[in-house]
Amino acid sequence: MDKILELKKLKKHYPILGGVMRRPVNSVRALDGIDLDIYRGECLGVVGESGCGKTTTGKAILRLHPPTSGDILYHPGDGGESHNIAKMSYSAMQRTGIRNKLQMVFQDPTTSLNPRMLIKHIIAEPLKEQKRWGARELETKVVELLDLVGLTGDHLMRYPHEFSGGQRQRIAVARAIAASPEFIVLDEPTSALDVSVQAQILNLLHKLRKQLNLTYLFVTHHLLVVKYISTRIAVMYLGKMIELAKTEDLFAGALHPYTHALLSGIPNPDPNLDKPRIVLEGDVPSPLDPPRGCRFHTRCPFAINVCAKEDPPLVDAADGHKVACHRRQETRKLVREKFGTADYC
Ligand code: SF4
Repeated sequence: MDKILELKKLKKHYPILGGVMRRPVNSVRALDGIDLDIYRGECLGVVGESGCGKTTTGKAILRLHPPTSGDILYHPGDGGESHNIAKMSYSAMQRTGIRNKLQMVFQDPTTSLNPRMLIKHIIAEPLKEQKRWGARELETKVVELLDLVGLTGDHLMRYPHEFSGGQRQRIAVARAIAASPEFIVLDEPTSALDVSVQAQILNLLHKLRKQLNLTYLFVTHHLLVVKYISTRIAVMYLGKMIELAKTEDLFAGALHPYTHALLSGIPNPDPNLDKPRIVLEGDVPSPLDPPRGCRFHTRCPFAINVCAKEDPPLVDAADGHKVACHRRQETRKLVREKFGTADYC
């Protein structure tokens, strides 16, 4: 398969400043060495608890938060020269057009759209940067984009507050695709919306991915949403990637104990089904001082001595299904013995 992005040992540490001189005294290790290939045309879901580094991954790729170290290789779809985004300046990204090729849709469209701008100006902004169209052509382009996301030219002269939450997210999507991107980070794009509207936005995103040959990084904590829209899923814990698999493989055969705990928490609509819930003990450790060895060992019901000493690498367990666990061959048996089942939905 054709790779669009390669993340190599990617780190993002946020310094904590202290003392009279405001010098760095510690750092929050939001991302601590991520290796990940993203393939053209896929929708890669990223899940995990708050603070695990999933949104930071998306922001680091777009250089909204420049990485501390590591590489981000971007391979353009037109066969042009590959670039290491992690080493590029913001102005170099604009000059080479990469800025347009990598876009983001934020969680809350109410705050991500400028309330003082008309919709036609919000969507036209990325088009104007390209300096290719006159005023009349720009307006035609904006109407085409509104049509693509299920709105009409009647909405051109309105302000964001005149729309519902779902319509505002459609406008945010139109703005993101205006620059003809190849890759979009979707940061919890449906979590601020009513349940009835969420499905419409998911269907719109799915349609646009196929129609425009887009690649998505879909960040969410909602496992059923990610099951519906993603082709692969990456599970993160405390700044590390701990499991990566095709969606059907992850739901049918999760290997990491933490993934089992996440999957067991999915609500089941059948009240007669006696489904066990794996409740993890203890809090998530601080990213200021993550545990040695496997970062999950302080909460893992199956931890053994080696877990506190050695950090398990992310290795291929079967057919592209990767997992970081010293006991990966036996976790499903262990979960079944302790909790009664290793299958959740
Ligand atoms: Fe649990 Fe050890 Fe596997 Fe970490 S490596 S998930 S502590 S069994």
